[in-house]
Amino acid sequence: MKSKSIGQSFANGTCLKCRQGVHVYGCRWCDDCYYPGIDEVYNDYRSMLEEGYRNVDAAVRSGWKGAEEI
Ligand SMILES: [Zn+2]
Repeated sequence: MKSKSIGQSFANGTCLKCRQGVHVYGCRWCDDCYYPGIDEVYNDYRSMLEEGYRNVDAAVRSGWKGAEEI
């Protein structure tokens, strides 16, 4: 199996933010999306969703996404 088929870029998982494949196995973020503290922001976002916030509100309030991104 020498040939590397294109389309296997998701083998390591996908970015939780933009759904691109990630380069590092088990990494939740691609290089474009990652920044220090993103895990905390994402956790805040998830917990707001669990508290019943609408997706949009949770995203903006937690800082997960800017209003212009939604
Ligand atoms: Zn990403």
